[in-house]
Amino acid sequence: MKNILFLLLAISIVSCKKSEKKEEATKPKVKLYQLVGGSILVKKLEVFSQDTAYTGKTKQFADAYYVISHPKGNLMWDAGLPEQLVMPEPYNEPSGVYAIRRPDSLVNQLKSIGFKIGDFKYFAMSHSHFDHTGHANLMKDATWIVQENEYNSVAGDSAKVKNPAVAALKNVQKIKGDFDVFGDGTVVIKYTPGHTIGHQALYVEVAGLEKPVLLTGDLYHFEENRANKGVPSFNYDVKQTIESMDSFEAFAKEKNAEVIIQHSPVAFEKLEKLLKK
Ligand SMILES: [Zn+2]
Repeated sequence: MKNILFLLLAISIVSCKKSEKKEEATKPKVKLYQLVGGSILVKKLEVFSQDTAYTGKTKQFADAYYVISHPKGNLMWDAGLPEQLVMPEPYNEPSGVYAIRRPDSLVNQLKSIGFKIGDFKYFAMSHSHFDHTGHANLMKDATWIVQENEYNSVAGDSAKVKNPAVAALKNVQKIKGDFDVFGDGTVVIKYTPGHTIGHQALYVEVAGLEKPVLLTGDLYHFEENRANKGVPSFNYDVKQTIESMDSFEAFAKEKNAEVIIQHSPVAFEKLEKLLKK
């Protein structure tokens, strides 16, 4: 009897070790690339606060978008500024808040990392503001993954103002809440409403990186925003934004994630260094 028990124990230990090894070996190899969708000089930083904290201040923003390469397909996250803004000098838009410019076209930027427009199975954006929907129309062959409420607000029949950049997107996958893009937990859209009605962030487990990466979308715009939970004056819902910040921070802590603020030039450099290691 003793011998049989020992044998069973030995077998279970061996099989346990085997399954652990298997899990490690089959972890999909996910790659992440960041590209420059534009530069934004904010000439009136006060719009990024509910109070007068930033009155009279200016700030340089980055405007990154991302390519996530997974064995089951590629995902593009966000779409920078429109290609019409590929020009030598920044464009001062009429409201007087922003001077904006995009450095190069989508085709050229993808080429620099070995991709083409047709290589994308999925396309998703943190939200539908103009600095994130820039080249969205060129992603028309991909499936657009979007929160149902965000879709209804910018493209649905009841939308007050339809966003022309997304009009070309006909393959639509509407979601409600968090969404595991490839079904293995490596690339997960996190529902973080408040900046817009269906704003979302992106969690990515990049192969070879010590920590997973958590892309904020516009949940935060710069480091101080994150530290102070600052909410821009033009957000859809202040209370919801704060709640999303809280759930985002809890998730970031749980996963020990590297939080990347997409509009932060500091975060852009930080991620660039991590990805080049
Ligand atoms: Zn933005």
